[in-house]
Amino acid sequence: TDPALIRNFCIIAHIDHGKSTLADRMLQLTGIVEQRQMRAQYLDRMDIERERGITIKSQAVRMPWSPGANGNVGSADGTGGTGDSGVAHILNMIDTPGHVDFTYEVSRSLAACEGCILLVDAAQGIEAQTLANLYLAMEHELTIIPVLNKIDLPAAQPEKFAAELAHLIGCEPEDVLKVSAKTGEGVGELLDTVVGQVPPPVGVADAPARAMIFDSVYDSYRGVVTYVKVVDGKLSKRERIRMMSTGATHELLEIGANSPEMTPSEGLGVGEVGYLITGVKDVRQSKVGDTITQLSKGATEPLGGYKEPKPMVFSGLYPLDGSDYPELRDALDKLQLNDAALVYEPETSAALGFGFRVGFLGLLHLEVIRERLEREFGLDLIATAPNVVYRVDMEDGTEHIVTNPSEFPTGKVDKVHEPMVRSTLIAPSEFIGAIMELCQSRRGSLQGMDYLSEERVELRYQLPLAEIVFDFFDSLKSKTRGYASLDYEPNGEQAADLVKVDILLQGDRVDAFSAIVHKDKAYGYGVRMATKLRELIPRQQFEVPIQAAVGSRVIARETVRAIRKDVLAKCYGGDISRKRKLLEKQKEGKKRMKVVGRVEVPQEAFIAALSSD
Ligand code: GDP
Ligand code: MG
Repeated sequence: TDPALIRNFCIIAHIDHGKSTLADRMLQLTGIVEQRQMRAQYLDRMDIERERGITIKSQAVRMPWSPGANGNVGSADGTGGTGDSGVAHILNMIDTPGHVDFTYEVSRSLAACEGCILLVDAAQGIEAQTLANLYLAMEHELTIIPVLNKIDLPAAQPEKFAAELAHLIGCEPEDVLKVSAKTGEGVGELLDTVVGQVPPPVGVADAPARAMIFDSVYDSYRGVVTYVKVVDGKLSKRERIRMMSTGATHELLEIGANSPEMTPSEGLGVGEVGYLITGVKDVRQSKVGDTITQLSKGATEPLGGYKEPKPMVFSGLYPLDGSDYPELRDALDKLQLNDAALVYEPETSAALGFGFRVGFLGLLHLEVIRERLEREFGLDLIATAPNVVYRVDMEDGTEHIVTNPSEFPTGKVDKVHEPMVRSTLIAPSEFIGAIMELCQSRRGSLQGMDYLSEERVELRYQLPLAEIVFDFFDSLKSKTRGYASLDYEPNGEQAADLVKVDILLQGDRVDAFSAIVHKDKAYGYGVRMATKLRELIPRQQFEVPIQAAVGSRVIARETVRAIRKDVLAKCYGGDISRKRKLLEKQKEGKKRMKVVGRVEVPQEAFIAALSSD
């Protein structure tokens, strides 16, 4: 295809603002999905995505479009249209993942585009997530087409939000398109505007091939399907290719485009977007952000922007039933085939038995993986409270990377560094005070504040990731009656006054409850855990002291008092078979107990103590 006739674009939208519905309408309008095959959210394939309305993995779809064919020439305001009216163009719609955890993948998808549609619900206005992705799109210098969706809703306020959008991106309110993805109104004009305003891709046709991987998906039948944008040169069926980050070589077994199902072709040229299959079985062999070139006379310089995925949040995952450990390991192996960012290693906990320390990109990633393990693999799991990665400098000059709080080094600590995030919060201005209070209590520092309109404000805070991981989102929602939205991205690290708090039962440390917290919050954490455990641990034959300690200093203490009489006392002198039955029963109860030192702790107590309320 002549690159001049190609338009590569994506849709940036907050959850529920109608991205999937708009994509559906486009598939229909361009004729690549017939009416009778159409089902809602055609492109959202994973069950969890569908149920939760989130898109986790991006895909790319090729659609033919001749502007004006719809009866409209150029864009709605008449500024679009390049005289190509009636000429068949190729539109590649690249679906970006919508969540904060996947910023890097979003940035690679954006890098494959020349333009983006900024889609905003006409009854809601801009949200933090939209804004964060908009900033990324601006960094990539994409052409931005502002669009208000759901104008069919009685509650829509298109004039008000058109002004807000125009103010934000620096255009005129009249330039904001108004559509209904539900009824299809305005969608033809929108596609015409994409052709008219988004620049065609530029690249060097006779240079060695350079293609950027923006997505990589494991398919149990075909192996890994890699999505690429060819920037220079051409990739052809059957030739040998090289992954520039690792030097690994593969044969191109199949190459083509999704339209919307996989359609093989002879090759992909400059500016084209499509998929390729090499037979590799693991997405880590085909990494998002990597550059692909030919093996013979290949490129020497990769395209910029490649980064290794870096887990930000860790949690210990343990099977509730210890005998499920091999199943848990197999399930993690399987999930990793499709998820280059998922890392794990075996871990043993005195309290919880055999399990894994698992690294995630963020909280949503953690939640999705946990849910898939439970749902798709039928596993019952205990997860330890999520923690971030700490870098600890010791006075003797050594450095430790801590991904499990119970492994915090014991010697003389010089400095502890924790990861930071740059966050964006948007809310009605009446909540400014509540948000500031929350962020301050979470050790945040205000970086800036802007009014999007008279009644909505954007606040920017630098915050420790550890504070966001702990229950931040729920607090924010409850303090703002659900009106605030939040987005954040990693932003370096910072030294902080952090200490490890241990929880001891009868003097024995319970590794699963150790936490690294700010010095000022150590006492609060200690008291909270000790109180919780006192309520959860049943009385034993002896007294059980529960202590919270920083190093050897005890900062909180509770006691579970001893039971006075044992089970057998009841049937003193009674018949022997009744005694035996009682002992039998007691033994069964014990199976679900974990023993810490001499103390028996029911599994439910661990689960309850680890849940974050
Ligand atoms: P996504 O999360 O951005 O992919 O949003 P969806 O496409 O899943 O849409 C979220 C909800 O909004 C769904 O219930 C849609 O049916 C609804 N929706 C999407 N577009 C429109 C529209 O133009 N008008 C109306 N009334 N509802 C819409
Ligand atoms: Mg969606």
